[in-house]
Amino acid sequence: MKRIPLAIPHMSGKEMAYIKQAFAENWIAPVGPNVDLFEEKVRDYTGAGYATATNSGTAAIHLALRMLGVTKGDTVFCPSFTFAASANPIHYQGAEAVFIDSELETWNMSPIALERALLDAKQNGQLPKAIIVVHIYGQPAKMTEIMALAKTYQIPVVEDAAESLGSLYQGVQTGIIGDIGIYSFNGNKIITTSGGGMLVSANKEWTQEAKFLSEQAKETAPYYQHEKIGYNYRLSNVSASIGCGQMEVLQERIDQKRLIFDRYAEGFAKYTETFSNFPSITYQNEIEGTFSNRWLSTIQIRGVHPLQLKEALDASGIEGRLLWKPLHLQPVFRQNHFFAEDANVKISNAQHLFENGFCLPSATQMTPSEQHYVVQTVARFLVQAGESM
Ligand SMILES: *Cc1c(COP(=O)(O)O)cnc(C)c1O
Repeated sequence: MKRIPLAIPHMSGKEMAYIKQAFAENWIAPVGPNVDLFEEKVRDYTGAGYATATNSGTAAIHLALRMLGVTKGDTVFCPSFTFAASANPIHYQGAEAVFIDSELETWNMSPIALERALLDAKQNGQLPKAIIVVHIYGQPAKMTEIMALAKTYQIPVVEDAAESLGSLYQGVQTGIIGDIGIYSFNGNKIITTSGGGMLVSANKEWTQEAKFLSEQAKETAPYYQHEKIGYNYRLSNVSASIGCGQMEVLQERIDQKRLIFDRYAEGFAKYTETFSNFPSITYQNEIEGTFSNRWLSTIQIRGVHPLQLKEALDASGIEGRLLWKPLHLQPVFRQNHFFAEDANVKISNAQHLFENGFCLPSATQMTPSEQHYVVQTVARFLVQAGESM
């Protein structure tokens, strides 16, 4: 039997027409008509004002921080419960990440922890230069509360929507709620360009400046003239071609991801009804007014070590993963400050999520019978764990 993967690229066949066109016209460069078309398609889909394609989501975050003037000595707030790529660009700028705890409903940035961190920063006379919000695993964060705090303290918000393309907050696409948003088209994301990203904003000057910096900051002159430090962050026309085709199936992929999530929830509910000792399973809460693309189906389980579950699945040909290990617990960020939601508890919410969480196979190619096998394998492990408790 073939291994059941966590998440892999899912081509539709529609990509090839765009790629063929790129080859036919010899647009095998980091510029070209499909880069423009891809930006247009993402703008149309999300409702973003302007967009600049990049060669990664990380590059887009870095450019966003440049647009906001983040520099040496600054601090930037960022959730702890996220992928390192959310925070690394803060340090590229010589600034420092301050990590904010999660709330336990959506697992995203806790508005309570954020408020404490802002109050503390104000008292110390150094407010952050920006707040990065992440919509983890596709579930939108509590944006009303977060945006209200950002407004009170007049701090710009960068939305790291790398995992949440197509997710909605009160009917609005994630990525366009904050001042600047970013998407990722890395190979494991809901759609992919094999590697790529995008910066979106209602501010045209920012997206134009981001484009300029992504092209090595070449000034308009009849020779190479540079007044700023630039980057080689452009998306290739071939990668953009893949993206154009992928945009045509984005909605389909979201439907498939949501169906995968529903099948897990229904599958495990049957075991909960049948076995009294079945450990309780909880999910990211799709709180009122939100719509998640359910990029990855994730669970919280009580009384089971996720590493043991991972090993059991591995032995059965199933790829599962632990959740993001909080950044404030990473050796590289051990000097950084962290604000817990509740300062009086020993285990922060972010750590709790990590220590009790698991990421189930969520590839859109997974068949219902393959998923049934995953549910059975997970459930068998949990029943045994429940018996030994
Ligand atoms: C994938 C991801 C990124 C980085 O995107 P790349 O395109 O891989 O550089 C940033 N933030 C989060 C939350 C991600 O999951």
